Amino acid sequence: MTGRVAVIGAGPCGLGQLRAFQQAKAKGAEIPEIVCFEKQSDWGGLWNYTWRSGTDEYGELVHSSMYRYLWSNGPKEALEFADYTFDHHFKQPIPSFPPREVLYDYITGRAKDAGVRPWIQFNTAVRHVTYDKNSGKFSLTFERLTDRALHADTFDWVVVATGHFSVPNVPHFPGVESFPGRVMHGHDFRSADEFKGKDVLIVGASYSAEDIGLQCHKYGAKSVTMCWRTQAMGFHWPETMDERPLLTKIEGRKVFFKDGSSKDFDAIILCTGYQHHFPFLADELKLRTHNRMHPPHLYKGIFWLDNPKLIYLGMQDQFYTFSMFDAQTWYARDVILGRIKLPSKEAMQKDDDAWVKREEALKDAFEKIDFQADYIRELCDATDYPKFDIDMTVDEFKEWEHDKEHSILGYRNKAFKSPCTGTMAPVHHTPWLEAMDDSMKAFLAVKGGKAAAE
Ligand code: FAD
Ligand code: NAP
Ligand code: MG
Repeated sequence: MTGRVAVIGAGPCGLGQLRAFQQAKAKGAEIPEIVCFEKQSDWGGLWNYTWRSGTDEYGELVHSSMYRYLWSNGPKEALEFADYTFDHHFKQPIPSFPPREVLYDYITGRAKDAGVRPWIQFNTAVRHVTYDKNSGKFSLTFERLTDRALHADTFDWVVVATGHFSVPNVPHFPGVESFPGRVMHGHDFRSADEFKGKDVLIVGASYSAEDIGLQCHKYGAKSVTMCWRTQAMGFHWPETMDERPLLTKIEGRKVFFKDGSSKDFDAIILCTGYQHHFPFLADELKLRTHNRMHPPHLYKGIFWLDNPKLIYLGMQDQFYTFSMFDAQTWYARDVILGRIKLPSKEAMQKDDDAWVKREEALKDAFEKIDFQADYIRELCDATDYPKFDIDMTVDEFKEWEHDKEHSILGYRNKAFKSPCTGTMAPVHHTPWLEAMDDSMKAFLAVKGGKAAAE
Protein backbone atom coordinates (compact mmCIF):
# COMPACT_ATOMS: atom_id res chain seq x y z
CA MET A 1 0.00 0.00 0.00
CA THR A 2 2.01 2.96 -1.26
CA GLY A 3 -0.66 5.63 -1.77
CA ARG A 4 -0.80 8.67 0.48
CA VAL A 5 -4.05 10.21 1.69
CA ALA A 6 -4.61 13.82 2.79
CA VAL A 7 -7.65 14.46 4.97
CA ILE A 8 -8.55 18.15 5.28
CA GLY A 9 -10.44 18.87 8.52
CA ALA A 10 -10.68 17.05 11.86
CA GLY A 11 -14.39 17.53 12.52
CA PRO A 12 -16.82 14.59 12.74
CA CYS A 13 -16.22 13.70 9.06
CA GLY A 14 -12.43 13.89 9.11
CA LEU A 15 -12.23 12.04 12.42
CA GLY A 16 -14.64 9.44 11.05
CA GLN A 17 -12.32 8.92 8.09
CA LEU A 18 -9.35 8.35 10.39
CA ARG A 19 -11.41 5.98 12.51
CA ALA A 20 -12.46 3.96 9.46
CA PHE A 21 -8.82 3.39 8.47
CA GLN A 22 -7.79 2.62 12.04
CA GLN A 23 -10.56 0.01 12.29
CA ALA A 24 -9.37 -1.68 9.08
CA LYS A 25 -5.82 -1.69 10.43
CA ALA A 26 -6.98 -3.20 13.71
CA LYS A 27 -8.47 -6.06 11.68
CA GLY A 28 -5.13 -6.66 9.95
CA ALA A 29 -5.43 -4.58 6.78
CA GLU A 30 -2.48 -2.71 5.38
CA ILE A 31 -3.44 0.97 5.20
CA PRO A 32 -1.88 3.91 3.36
CA GLU A 33 -0.09 6.81 5.02
CA ILE A 34 -2.67 9.34 6.16
CA VAL A 35 -2.04 12.99 7.01
CA CYS A 36 -4.90 15.03 8.45
CA PHE A 37 -4.69 18.84 8.36
CA GLU A 38 -6.69 20.88 10.86
CA LYS A 39 -6.54 24.65 11.04
CA GLN A 40 -7.86 24.83 14.59
CA SER A 41 -5.69 23.99 17.59
CA ASP A 42 -7.96 21.09 18.53
CA TRP A 43 -10.30 18.54 16.96
CA GLY A 44 -14.11 18.35 16.85
CA GLY A 45 -14.91 20.80 14.02
CA LEU A 46 -18.05 22.84 14.72
CA TRP A 47 -18.37 21.04 18.06
CA ASN A 48 -15.14 22.65 19.24
CA TYR A 49 -16.82 25.68 20.82
CA THR A 50 -15.04 29.01 20.85
CA TRP A 51 -15.98 32.31 22.45
CA ARG A 52 -14.32 34.02 19.50
CA SER A 53 -16.16 35.32 16.48
CA GLY A 54 -14.82 36.91 13.29
CA THR A 55 -11.15 35.99 13.12
CA ASP A 56 -9.06 33.86 15.45
CA GLU A 57 -5.66 34.45 17.06
CA TYR A 58 -3.97 33.86 13.69
CA GLY A 59 -6.35 36.01 11.66
CA GLU A 60 -8.11 32.93 10.24
CA LEU A 61 -11.90 32.95 9.89
CA VAL A 62 -13.37 31.42 13.05
CA HIS A 63 -14.78 28.05 12.01
CA SER A 64 -17.34 27.18 14.66
CA SER A 65 -20.95 28.34 14.34
CA MET A 66 -21.99 26.78 17.62
CA TYR A 67 -23.14 28.71 20.66
CA ARG A 68 -23.24 28.38 24.41
CA TYR A 69 -26.30 26.48 25.56
CA LEU A 70 -26.59 24.57 22.26
CA TRP A 71 -28.41 21.27 22.72
CA SER A 72 -28.77 18.66 19.99
CA ASN A 73 -31.83 19.41 17.91
CA GLY A 74 -32.27 15.81 16.77
CA PRO A 75 -32.40 12.66 18.91
CA LYS A 76 -28.89 11.32 19.53
CA GLU A 77 -30.12 7.84 18.63
CA ALA A 78 -30.37 8.93 14.98
CA LEU A 79 -26.70 9.92 14.86
CA GLU A 80 -25.14 7.18 17.00
CA PHE A 81 -21.79 5.65 15.92
CA ALA A 82 -22.53 1.95 15.41
CA ASP A 83 -18.89 1.05 16.17
CA TYR A 84 -18.75 3.16 19.34
CA THR A 85 -22.12 3.43 21.02
CA PHE A 86 -23.34 5.91 23.64
CA ASP A 87 -23.64 3.07 26.17
CA HIS A 88 -20.03 2.13 25.52
CA HIS A 89 -18.74 5.68 25.87
CA PHE A 90 -20.80 6.92 28.84
CA LYS A 91 -21.16 3.59 30.68
CA GLN A 92 -24.74 4.54 31.54
CA PRO A 93 -27.84 5.26 29.46
CA ILE A 94 -28.13 9.00 28.78
CA PRO A 95 -31.09 11.14 27.62
CA SER A 96 -31.82 11.68 23.93
CA PHE A 97 -31.04 15.39 23.43
CA PRO A 98 -27.59 16.13 24.85
CA PRO A 99 -25.99 19.56 25.06
CA ARG A 100 -22.92 20.34 22.94
CA GLU A 101 -20.28 19.41 25.54
CA VAL A 102 -21.69 15.89 25.84
CA LEU A 103 -21.67 15.27 22.09
CA TYR A 104 -18.19 16.78 21.86
CA ASP A 105 -17.04 14.30 24.50
CA TYR A 106 -18.59 11.44 22.51
CA ILE A 107 -17.11 12.47 19.13
CA THR A 108 -13.64 13.05 20.50
CA GLY A 109 -13.90 10.01 22.78
CA ARG A 110 -14.09 7.77 19.73
CA ALA A 111 -11.12 9.54 18.15
CA LYS A 112 -9.09 9.05 21.33
CA ASP A 113 -10.09 5.40 21.42
CA ALA A 114 -8.79 5.06 17.85
CA GLY A 115 -5.45 6.61 18.82
CA VAL A 116 -5.40 8.81 15.71
CA ARG A 117 -4.31 12.11 17.25
CA PRO A 118 -0.72 11.69 15.97
CA TRP A 119 -2.12 11.54 12.41
CA ILE A 120 -3.33 15.13 12.70
CA GLN A 121 -1.33 18.31 12.10
CA PHE A 122 -3.11 20.99 14.14
CA ASN A 123 -2.84 24.75 13.58
CA THR A 124 -2.30 23.92 9.93
CA ALA A 125 -4.47 25.47 7.23
CA VAL A 126 -4.57 23.99 3.75
CA ARG A 127 -4.11 26.86 1.30
CA HIS A 128 -4.08 25.29 -2.14
CA VAL A 129 -4.83 21.96 -3.78
CA THR A 130 -4.12 21.19 -7.43
CA TYR A 131 -4.06 17.98 -9.45
CA ASP A 132 -1.31 17.09 -11.89
CA LYS A 133 -2.55 14.81 -14.66
CA ASN A 134 0.96 13.67 -15.63
CA SER A 135 2.00 12.39 -12.22
CA GLY A 136 -1.56 11.49 -11.18
CA LYS A 137 -0.99 13.21 -7.85
CA PHE A 138 -2.41 16.12 -5.90
CA SER A 139 -0.15 18.93 -4.69
CA LEU A 140 -1.12 20.47 -1.35
CA THR A 141 0.19 23.73 0.00
CA PHE A 142 -0.41 24.30 3.68
CA GLU A 143 0.53 26.89 6.24
CA ARG A 144 1.65 26.22 9.79
CA LEU A 145 -0.09 29.05 11.57
CA THR A 146 2.23 28.99 14.57
CA ASP A 147 5.27 30.08 12.55
CA ARG A 148 3.59 31.11 9.29
CA ALA A 149 5.74 28.65 7.35
CA LEU A 150 4.37 27.43 4.00
CA HIS A 151 4.96 23.81 3.04
CA ALA A 152 4.05 21.62 0.09
CA ASP A 153 3.48 17.89 -0.24
CA THR A 154 1.96 15.43 -2.73
CA PHE A 155 -0.84 12.91 -2.20
CA ASP A 156 -2.66 10.25 -4.19
CA TRP A 157 -6.04 10.94 -2.59
CA VAL A 158 -7.52 14.08 -1.08
CA VAL A 159 -10.46 13.95 1.33
CA VAL A 160 -12.27 17.28 1.76
CA ALA A 161 -13.89 17.25 5.22
CA THR A 162 -14.05 20.97 5.87
CA GLY A 163 -17.80 21.19 6.53
CA HIS A 164 -20.30 23.60 5.00
CA PHE A 165 -21.91 25.36 7.94
CA SER A 166 -19.17 27.86 8.66
CA VAL A 167 -19.08 30.58 6.01
CA PRO A 168 -22.27 32.59 6.44
CA ASN A 169 -24.69 33.66 3.72
CA VAL A 170 -25.38 37.32 4.49
CA PRO A 171 -28.08 39.01 2.39
CA HIS A 172 -28.64 42.78 2.40
CA PHE A 173 -31.92 44.41 3.39
CA PRO A 174 -32.74 48.04 2.54
CA GLY A 175 -32.03 50.38 5.45
CA VAL A 176 -30.07 47.83 7.49
CA GLU A 177 -27.04 50.13 7.55
CA SER A 178 -29.03 52.68 9.56
CA PHE A 179 -30.35 50.17 12.14
CA PRO A 180 -29.11 51.42 15.55
CA GLY A 181 -28.91 48.01 17.26
CA ARG A 182 -26.83 44.90 16.82
CA VAL A 183 -26.97 43.10 13.45
CA MET A 184 -25.27 39.73 13.27
CA HIS A 185 -25.36 36.37 11.47
CA GLY A 186 -26.14 33.19 13.40
CA HIS A 187 -22.54 32.09 12.74
CA ASP A 188 -21.37 34.77 15.20
CA PHE A 189 -24.12 34.15 17.78
CA ARG A 190 -22.57 32.90 21.01
CA SER A 191 -24.64 33.61 24.09
CA ALA A 192 -28.35 34.32 24.31
CA ASP A 193 -27.82 36.25 27.57
CA GLU A 194 -27.01 39.33 25.52
CA PHE A 195 -30.62 39.49 24.29
CA LYS A 196 -32.34 39.35 27.68
CA GLY A 197 -35.15 41.92 27.82
CA LYS A 198 -34.71 42.75 24.11
CA ASP A 199 -37.02 42.64 21.11
CA VAL A 200 -35.20 40.38 18.67
CA LEU A 201 -35.80 39.91 14.95
CA ILE A 202 -34.63 36.69 13.34
CA VAL A 203 -34.43 36.37 9.55
CA GLY A 204 -34.78 32.81 8.20
CA ALA A 205 -37.08 29.85 8.69
CA SER A 206 -34.87 26.81 9.13
CA TYR A 207 -33.04 25.10 12.01
CA SER A 208 -30.87 28.05 13.02
CA ALA A 209 -33.81 30.47 13.03
CA GLU A 210 -35.87 28.02 15.08
CA ASP A 211 -33.16 27.19 17.59
CA ILE A 212 -31.58 30.63 18.03
CA GLY A 213 -35.12 32.02 18.39
CA LEU A 214 -35.85 29.44 21.10
CA GLN A 215 -32.53 30.21 22.82
CA CYS A 216 -33.35 33.91 22.98
CA HIS A 217 -36.78 33.06 24.38
CA LYS A 218 -35.34 30.65 26.96
CA TYR A 219 -32.78 33.15 28.21
CA GLY A 220 -35.24 36.01 28.62
CA ALA A 221 -35.73 37.95 25.38
CA LYS A 222 -38.78 40.20 25.64
CA SER A 223 -40.03 39.09 22.23
CA VAL A 224 -38.75 37.08 19.28
CA THR A 225 -40.09 37.63 15.76
CA MET A 226 -38.95 35.28 13.00
CA CYS A 227 -39.51 36.11 9.33
CA TRP A 228 -39.57 33.77 6.38
CA ARG A 229 -38.90 33.99 2.66
CA THR A 230 -40.46 30.79 1.29
CA GLN A 231 -42.50 29.23 4.06
CA ALA A 232 -43.21 29.81 7.75
CA MET A 233 -42.05 27.13 10.20
CA GLY A 234 -45.57 27.06 11.61
CA PHE A 235 -44.87 25.68 15.09
CA HIS A 236 -47.01 26.50 18.12
CA TRP A 237 -44.82 29.30 19.44
CA PRO A 238 -45.15 30.69 22.95
CA GLU A 239 -46.94 34.03 23.31
CA THR A 240 -43.83 36.19 22.99
CA MET A 241 -42.68 34.55 19.75
CA ASP A 242 -44.23 34.99 16.32
CA GLU A 243 -43.59 34.50 12.61
CA ARG A 244 -44.11 36.99 9.82
CA PRO A 245 -43.41 37.06 6.08
CA LEU A 246 -40.01 38.48 5.09
CA LEU A 247 -39.01 42.03 5.96
CA THR A 248 -39.07 44.58 3.17
CA LYS A 249 -37.16 47.52 4.67
CA ILE A 250 -35.75 48.97 7.86
CA GLU A 251 -36.14 52.58 9.05
CA GLY A 252 -34.25 53.27 12.25
CA ARG A 253 -35.41 50.67 14.76
CA LYS A 254 -38.57 49.97 12.78
CA VAL A 255 -38.77 46.96 10.52
CA PHE A 256 -41.48 46.56 7.87
CA PHE A 257 -42.77 43.19 6.69
CA LYS A 258 -44.39 41.95 3.47
CA ASP A 259 -47.81 41.67 5.14
CA GLY A 260 -47.76 45.43 5.79
CA SER A 261 -47.04 45.07 9.50
CA SER A 262 -44.10 46.72 11.29
CA LYS A 263 -42.38 46.47 14.65
CA ASP A 264 -39.48 48.08 16.55
CA PHE A 265 -36.47 45.88 17.36
CA ASP A 266 -33.29 46.06 19.43
CA ALA A 267 -31.32 43.43 17.50
CA ILE A 268 -31.39 41.51 14.22
CA ILE A 269 -29.97 38.01 13.84
CA LEU A 270 -29.62 36.70 10.29
CA CYS A 271 -30.20 32.96 10.27
CA THR A 272 -29.91 32.85 6.52
CA GLY A 273 -27.77 29.77 6.08
CA TYR A 274 -24.24 29.06 4.90
CA GLN A 275 -22.15 28.77 1.76
CA HIS A 276 -20.23 25.77 0.50
CA HIS A 277 -16.87 27.48 0.33
CA PHE A 278 -13.59 25.87 -0.75
CA PRO A 279 -11.12 28.70 -1.35
CA PHE A 280 -8.22 26.21 -1.21
CA LEU A 281 -9.34 24.05 -4.14
CA ALA A 282 -8.34 24.60 -7.77
CA ASP A 283 -11.31 25.68 -9.86
CA GLU A 284 -11.79 22.36 -11.62
CA LEU A 285 -11.92 20.50 -8.29
CA LYS A 286 -14.42 22.79 -6.59
CA LEU A 287 -17.89 21.59 -5.62
CA ARG A 288 -20.44 24.30 -6.38
CA THR A 289 -23.76 23.81 -4.68
CA HIS A 290 -26.31 25.21 -2.27
CA ASN A 291 -27.46 23.28 0.80
CA ARG A 292 -29.38 20.28 -0.54
CA MET A 293 -29.92 16.57 0.04
CA HIS A 294 -27.83 15.43 -2.95
CA PRO A 295 -25.32 17.97 -4.26
CA PRO A 296 -24.80 16.88 -7.88
CA HIS A 297 -21.53 15.78 -9.47
CA LEU A 298 -20.54 13.53 -6.56
CA TYR A 299 -20.79 9.77 -7.19
CA LYS A 300 -22.47 8.18 -4.14
CA GLY A 301 -22.49 11.70 -2.71
CA ILE A 302 -18.73 11.31 -2.18
CA PHE A 303 -16.50 11.05 -5.27
CA TRP A 304 -15.85 14.03 -7.55
CA LEU A 305 -17.05 12.75 -10.93
CA ASP A 306 -14.24 14.39 -12.93
CA ASN A 307 -11.58 12.93 -10.64
CA PRO A 308 -12.82 10.39 -8.09
CA LYS A 309 -9.53 10.45 -6.19
CA LEU A 310 -10.95 13.68 -4.78
CA ILE A 311 -13.39 12.77 -2.02
CA TYR A 312 -15.96 15.03 -0.38
CA LEU A 313 -17.53 14.12 2.97
CA GLY A 314 -20.68 15.45 4.61
CA MET A 315 -21.59 17.95 1.88
CA GLN A 316 -25.29 17.03 2.00
CA ASP A 317 -28.03 18.83 3.89
CA GLN A 318 -28.31 16.76 7.03
CA PHE A 319 -31.07 14.90 8.79
CA TYR A 320 -28.59 12.18 9.59
CA THR A 321 -25.19 13.41 10.68
CA PHE A 322 -22.54 11.19 12.30
CA SER A 323 -24.07 7.92 11.07
CA MET A 324 -24.25 9.26 7.51
CA PHE A 325 -20.66 10.49 7.75
CA ASP A 326 -19.58 7.03 8.90
CA ALA A 327 -21.40 5.38 6.00
CA GLN A 328 -19.42 7.69 3.69
CA THR A 329 -16.03 7.31 5.36
CA TRP A 330 -16.19 3.51 5.48
CA TYR A 331 -17.18 3.47 1.78
CA ALA A 332 -14.43 5.95 0.83
CA ARG A 333 -11.90 3.91 2.79
CA ASP A 334 -12.86 0.74 0.94
CA VAL A 335 -12.48 2.45 -2.43
CA ILE A 336 -9.02 3.70 -1.40
CA LEU A 337 -8.11 0.21 -0.16
CA GLY A 338 -9.23 -1.25 -3.51
CA ARG A 339 -11.98 -3.31 -1.88
CA ILE A 340 -14.66 -1.48 -3.87
CA LYS A 341 -14.04 -0.74 -7.54
CA LEU A 342 -15.53 2.44 -8.96
CA PRO A 343 -17.44 1.93 -12.23
CA SER A 344 -16.88 3.89 -15.46
CA LYS A 345 -17.47 7.63 -15.48
CA GLU A 346 -20.65 7.10 -17.53
CA ALA A 347 -22.02 4.64 -14.98
CA MET A 348 -21.16 7.00 -12.12
CA GLN A 349 -22.84 9.91 -13.89
CA LYS A 350 -25.96 7.81 -14.48
CA ASP A 351 -26.14 6.82 -10.83
CA ASP A 352 -25.65 10.44 -9.75
CA ASP A 353 -28.37 11.62 -12.16
CA ALA A 354 -30.82 9.11 -10.69
CA TRP A 355 -30.21 10.38 -7.12
CA VAL A 356 -30.58 14.00 -8.25
CA LYS A 357 -33.83 13.15 -10.02
CA ARG A 358 -35.19 11.46 -6.93
CA GLU A 359 -34.09 14.37 -4.75
CA GLU A 360 -35.82 16.90 -6.97
CA ALA A 361 -39.11 15.02 -6.54
CA LEU A 362 -39.00 15.01 -2.72
CA LYS A 363 -42.14 16.65 -1.35
CA ASP A 364 -41.68 16.93 2.40
CA ALA A 365 -39.46 16.25 5.41
CA PHE A 366 -40.69 12.65 5.69
CA GLU A 367 -39.61 11.89 2.13
CA LYS A 368 -36.25 13.54 2.78
CA ILE A 369 -35.73 11.31 5.81
CA ASP A 370 -36.53 8.20 3.72
CA PHE A 371 -34.21 9.45 0.99
CA GLN A 372 -31.26 9.94 3.31
CA ALA A 373 -31.89 6.61 5.06
CA ASP A 374 -31.89 4.78 1.71
CA TYR A 375 -28.64 6.52 0.82
CA ILE A 376 -27.00 5.43 4.07
CA ARG A 377 -28.34 1.89 3.69
CA GLU A 378 -26.84 1.60 0.20
CA LEU A 379 -23.42 2.72 1.42
CA CYS A 380 -23.41 0.57 4.56
CA ASP A 381 -24.44 -2.57 2.66
CA ALA A 382 -21.17 -2.33 0.71
CA THR A 383 -18.85 -2.21 3.74
CA ASP A 384 -18.25 -3.86 7.11
CA TYR A 385 -19.66 -0.89 9.06
CA PRO A 386 -21.44 -2.52 12.03
CA LYS A 387 -25.13 -3.19 11.47
CA PHE A 388 -27.67 -0.91 13.12
CA ASP A 389 -31.42 -0.60 12.79
CA ILE A 390 -31.84 2.15 10.17
CA ASP A 391 -35.60 1.54 9.98
CA MET A 392 -35.80 2.38 13.68
CA THR A 393 -34.01 5.70 13.11
CA VAL A 394 -36.45 6.54 10.30
CA ASP A 395 -39.38 5.97 12.66
CA GLU A 396 -37.66 8.02 15.33
CA PHE A 397 -37.02 10.95 13.01
CA LYS A 398 -40.67 10.91 11.94
CA GLU A 399 -41.83 10.75 15.54
CA TRP A 400 -39.48 13.66 16.30
CA GLU A 401 -41.12 15.68 13.50
CA HIS A 402 -44.50 15.03 15.12
CA ASP A 403 -43.12 15.91 18.55
CA LYS A 404 -41.95 19.28 17.24
CA GLU A 405 -45.37 19.96 15.70
CA HIS A 406 -46.92 19.08 19.01
CA SER A 407 -44.58 21.10 21.24
CA ILE A 408 -41.64 23.11 19.97
CA LEU A 409 -40.64 23.94 23.56
CA GLY A 410 -41.08 20.38 24.80
CA TYR A 411 -39.82 18.05 22.06
CA ARG A 412 -36.41 17.71 23.70
CA ASN A 413 -38.00 16.16 26.80
CA LYS A 414 -38.72 12.92 24.94
CA ALA A 415 -36.64 9.72 25.04
CA PHE A 416 -35.79 7.33 22.20
CA LYS A 417 -34.38 3.83 21.77
CA SER A 418 -30.89 3.11 20.47
CA PRO A 419 -30.76 1.53 16.99
CA CYS A 420 -27.38 0.06 17.95
CA THR A 421 -27.88 -1.40 21.43
CA GLY A 422 -31.67 -1.34 21.91
CA THR A 423 -31.18 0.69 25.11
CA MET A 424 -34.11 2.95 25.96
CA ALA A 425 -32.88 6.44 26.90
CA PRO A 426 -33.98 7.84 30.24
CA VAL A 427 -36.09 11.02 30.25
CA HIS A 428 -33.86 13.95 31.21
CA HIS A 429 -34.14 15.04 34.86
CA THR A 430 -35.05 18.62 33.92
CA PRO A 431 -37.29 19.87 31.09
CA TRP A 432 -35.15 21.60 28.45
CA LEU A 433 -36.84 24.96 28.99
CA GLU A 434 -35.81 24.96 32.65
CA ALA A 435 -32.36 23.41 32.19
CA MET A 436 -30.15 26.52 32.26
CA ASP A 437 -26.89 24.68 33.05
CA ASP A 438 -25.73 22.93 29.87
CA SER A 439 -22.58 21.38 31.34
CA MET A 440 -21.86 17.67 30.93
CA LYS A 441 -21.78 17.32 34.69
CA ALA A 442 -25.31 18.69 35.07
CA PHE A 443 -26.61 16.65 32.14
CA LEU A 444 -25.24 13.33 33.37
CA ALA A 445 -26.35 13.93 36.96
CA VAL A 446 -29.06 11.62 38.22
CA LYS A 447 -32.12 13.40 39.56
CA GLY A 448 -31.65 14.23 43.23
CA GLY A 449 -28.22 12.59 43.26
CA LYS A 450 -24.66 13.52 42.39
CA ALA A 451 -23.19 13.64 38.91
CA ALA A 452 -22.63 10.16 37.55
CA ALA A 453 -19.59 11.47 35.65
CA GLU A 454 -17.74 12.27 38.87
P1 FAD B 1 -17.16 20.57 10.64
O1 FAD B 1 -17.67 20.11 11.94
O2 FAD B 1 -17.49 21.92 10.17
O3 FAD B 1 -15.55 20.38 10.65
C1 FAD B 1 -14.73 20.83 9.59
C2 FAD B 1 -13.29 21.01 10.08
O4 FAD B 1 -12.46 21.40 8.98
C3 FAD B 1 -13.13 22.09 11.14
O5 FAD B 1 -12.46 21.57 12.26
C4 FAD B 1 -12.30 23.19 10.44
O6 FAD B 1 -11.47 23.90 11.32
C5 FAD B 1 -11.52 22.38 9.42
N1 FAD B 1 -11.08 23.17 8.26
C6 FAD B 1 -11.83 23.96 7.47
N2 FAD B 1 -11.09 24.50 6.48
C7 FAD B 1 -9.82 24.05 6.66
C8 FAD B 1 -8.58 24.25 5.95
N3 FAD B 1 -8.51 25.01 4.86
N4 FAD B 1 -7.48 23.64 6.43
C9 FAD B 1 -7.53 22.85 7.54
N5 FAD B 1 -8.67 22.62 8.23
C10 FAD B 1 -9.80 23.20 7.79
N6 FAD B 1 -25.47 18.04 13.91
C11 FAD B 1 -26.00 17.16 14.77
O7 FAD B 1 -25.93 15.96 14.56
N7 FAD B 1 -26.63 17.57 15.92
C12 FAD B 1 -26.69 18.88 16.23
O8 FAD B 1 -27.24 19.23 17.27
C13 FAD B 1 -26.09 19.83 15.35
N8 FAD B 1 -26.09 21.13 15.66
C14 FAD B 1 -25.54 22.03 14.79
C15 FAD B 1 -25.59 23.37 15.13
C16 FAD B 1 -25.08 24.34 14.30
C17 FAD B 1 -25.15 25.79 14.70
C18 FAD B 1 -24.52 23.95 13.07
C19 FAD B 1 -23.99 24.98 12.13
C20 FAD B 1 -24.47 22.60 12.72
C21 FAD B 1 -24.99 21.63 13.57
N9 FAD B 1 -24.97 20.26 13.28
C22 FAD B 1 -25.50 19.36 14.16
C23 FAD B 1 -24.51 19.76 11.96
C24 FAD B 1 -22.98 19.67 11.76
O9 FAD B 1 -22.85 19.96 10.42
C25 FAD B 1 -22.39 18.29 12.03
O10 FAD B 1 -22.72 17.83 13.32
C26 FAD B 1 -20.86 18.21 11.89
O11 FAD B 1 -20.18 19.13 12.72
C27 FAD B 1 -20.33 18.31 10.50
O12 FAD B 1 -19.04 17.76 10.50
P2 FAD B 1 -17.93 18.04 9.40
O13 FAD B 1 -16.74 17.27 9.80
O14 FAD B 1 -18.51 17.83 8.06
O15 FAD B 1 -17.64 19.61 9.45
P1 NAP C 1 -30.34 26.20 6.33
O1 NAP C 1 -31.04 25.02 6.84
O2 NAP C 1 -29.59 26.10 5.08
O3 NAP C 1 -31.47 27.35 6.16
C1 NAP C 1 -31.20 28.61 5.64
C2 NAP C 1 -32.41 29.52 5.86
O4 NAP C 1 -32.07 30.84 5.43
C3 NAP C 1 -33.64 29.10 5.08
O5 NAP C 1 -34.79 29.30 5.87
C4 NAP C 1 -33.64 30.09 3.92
O6 NAP C 1 -34.92 30.37 3.43
C5 NAP C 1 -33.09 31.32 4.60
N1 NAP C 1 -32.54 32.31 3.67
C6 NAP C 1 -31.44 32.20 2.89
N2 NAP C 1 -31.25 33.32 2.19
C7 NAP C 1 -32.24 34.17 2.54
C8 NAP C 1 -32.59 35.48 2.15
N3 NAP C 1 -31.87 36.16 1.24
N4 NAP C 1 -33.67 36.05 2.70
C9 NAP C 1 -34.41 35.38 3.60
N5 NAP C 1 -34.14 34.13 4.02
C10 NAP C 1 -33.06 33.53 3.48
O7 NAP C 1 -29.32 26.80 7.41
P2 NAP C 1 -29.42 26.81 9.02
O8 NAP C 1 -30.80 27.05 9.46
O9 NAP C 1 -28.34 27.74 9.46
O10 NAP C 1 -29.03 25.33 9.45
C11 NAP C 1 -27.72 24.82 9.18
C12 NAP C 1 -27.42 23.56 9.97
O11 NAP C 1 -27.22 23.87 11.32
C13 NAP C 1 -28.51 22.49 9.94
O12 NAP C 1 -27.90 21.24 9.69
C14 NAP C 1 -29.07 22.49 11.33
O13 NAP C 1 -29.52 21.22 11.75
C15 NAP C 1 -27.91 22.94 12.14
N6 NAP C 1 -28.33 23.59 13.40
C16 NAP C 1 -28.52 22.82 14.52
C17 NAP C 1 -28.87 23.39 15.72
C18 NAP C 1 -28.98 22.54 16.95
O14 NAP C 1 -28.74 21.39 16.89
N7 NAP C 1 -29.31 23.02 18.09
C19 NAP C 1 -29.07 24.75 15.79
C20 NAP C 1 -28.89 25.52 14.65
C21 NAP C 1 -28.52 24.93 13.45
P3 NAP C 1 -35.57 29.62 2.16
O15 NAP C 1 -36.28 28.44 2.74
O16 NAP C 1 -36.49 30.63 1.62
O17 NAP C 1 -34.46 29.25 1.23
MG1 MG D 1 -22.37 -3.90 5.58
